[in-house]
Amino acid sequence: MSSVLPGRLTAPEPGWDVETDVVVVGSGIAGLTTALHVSRHSSLRVLLVTKDVLAAGSTRWAQGGIAAALGAGDSPDEHFADTIVAGAGVCDEAAVRALVREGPAAVRELAQMGARFDRGADGRMSLGREGGHHRNRIAHAGGDATGAEIERALVTRVLDATDVQVIEHALVLDLLTGPDGSVAGLTLHVMGEGQRDGVGAVRARAVVLATGGIGQVYASTTNPSVSTGDGVAAALRAGAIVRDLEFVQFHPTVTWLGRNSRGQQPLVSEAVRGEGAFLVDDAGTRFMTGQHELADLAPRDIVAKAIVRRMRETGADHVWLDARHFGAEKWRVRFPTIHETLLSLGIDPVRELIPVVPACHYAPGGVHTDLRGETSRPGLFACGESACTGVHGANRLASNSLLEGLVFGRRIAETLVTRLGEPAPAPTDVTGPAGPSGVVEESARPDLQALMSRDVGVLRDAAGLGAAAKGVDELLARATAVPGTEAWETTNLLTVASALVRAATVREETRGAHWRDDFPATDDERWRGNVDVRLSPDGTLSTEFRPLTGSAS
Ligand SMILES: Cc1cc2nc3c(=O)[nH]c(=O)nc-3n(C[C@H](O)[C@H](O)[C@H](O)COP(=O)(O)OP(=O)(O)OC[C@H]3O[C@@H](n4cnc5c(N)ncnc54)[C@H](O)[C@@H]3O)c2cc1C
Repeated sequence: MSSVLPGRLTAPEPGWDVETDVVVVGSGIAGLTTALHVSRHSSLRVLLVTKDVLAAGSTRWAQGGIAAALGAGDSPDEHFADTIVAGAGVCDEAAVRALVREGPAAVRELAQMGARFDRGADGRMSLGREGGHHRNRIAHAGGDATGAEIERALVTRVLDATDVQVIEHALVLDLLTGPDGSVAGLTLHVMGEGQRDGVGAVRARAVVLATGGIGQVYASTTNPSVSTGDGVAAALRAGAIVRDLEFVQFHPTVTWLGRNSRGQQPLVSEAVRGEGAFLVDDAGTRFMTGQHELADLAPRDIVAKAIVRRMRETGADHVWLDARHFGAEKWRVRFPTIHETLLSLGIDPVRELIPVVPACHYAPGGVHTDLRGETSRPGLFACGESACTGVHGANRLASNSLLEGLVFGRRIAETLVTRLGEPAPAPTDVTGPAGPSGVVEESARPDLQALMSRDVGVLRDAAGLGAAAKGVDELLARATAVPGTEAWETTNLLTVASALVRAATVREETRGAHWRDDFPATDDERWRGNVDVRLSPDGTLSTEFRPLTGSAS
């Protein structure tokens, strides 16, 4: 059996209609940066829509910080080298170059815009170290509250910008196309906004998807509840190319909350290991020693796999993180948020070991874009975690994701300002995606999450992926005639999961954040390149492998 996915979501006809130059979907670092930069550098009208309150999203949960070559002795070239190593041979080198070269100025500008980064007595930004980085280059704020501080600063700026209009509680459903074939707007469902209640349409000259991650596809994730991959699913339905979805980064150290816990789980930042905490099993053995030259600070996928293997060997539900030697003062000052969260869960890290497991944390793949952030559909841009710019390759280097949203948000804004020039009317004659509409009942969500965690998690093989594909097909059959937020999100999760399972099945090798137990070697001859997934209007997925030319640096 092969998946037949809805070509568009079932929804009532739009009851209202608004028009703008640029519509940005999502209010994390990517969406806010794009919206702010368009408004700062042009008179274009910007509408920012977001499905919850402005502050919801992964950005505000980021703890470790934002990576950039800001320190004395560091350089973009060294940041480039570390990023390429983490990306395991399939980074887009031009995109990485843009990231590391433009990163320092972008972070400094963020500070000028009001983000209060931690600084030393000399007034310079304090820079931490994380897994995979050979230099201290992680700018942080409020100790471990970096994302919350960045989100606060950007939201404040957006609310001050008179030419950025914001609609909260606005769930984007599908993309609209203009007469020339360009993406020219979207449909969305708004809750409780007076005249704009219910399903409506936004007509626009360009659409920027900045909808964040896909973590809710899995039962265990650090991602918040809004991370349901809506932008990736909408882009697929609009015929855009989605790239590298098989690479899923599992954060190695997420607090284990017991066998029945589901949804967002609090992570213990890698920065804690950066400061000297280490992993042990039930017997107290430090099992990362000898696995990698950086031991407990090895890249995330290596640590996550080592933990899962150790759990399989010992039959344990979790392993432990030992940071008792930090003492109370260091926990309180350097990691106040994690410290408080652990205490609220009844774990005192000064006296006790912290139970940890790997959980879905970050999606390096997404809607494929070029260096300007434009997707394979003209008029449609993607930014941040929902995009695949190629900077992460097969695995993200820690703290490069906030930076990606910042740098590529600026790039997209620059492109839009140059291309669109002055405000002008949006197309009037817009249409939704072709293909049959459909929506799956919300009861499919927990079943999907369980099967994805079991069969498409840290360690994968053909049998598990085959079972996952079959399971997803069966869940797609649970159609409902009653559309609504939960059903729309569930349908998006199934769409993303189908594409992910397909890409993971196709890539018969182990690379970066994609580990095949049945193909344990990296196979550069056959698989150094990208797996692209497309959805055709008849609801079937197709994949195409695009080999990379040149040497794997
Ligand atoms: C716990 C945690 C810790 C992390 N720590 C770090 C770190 O230290 N450093 C680092 O670089 N990265 C870190 N990351 C990753 C990083 O936070 C994210 O990759 C980044 O914030 C993504 O930003 P974004 O703007 O793309 O998406 P988000 O910040 O997730 O924003 C997405 C937005 O889209 C909205 N949205 C989604 N779907 C729809 C829809 N259908 N309609 C309308 N709106 C929609 C959401 O409501 C939200 O506003 C961490 C992630 C987590 C979860």
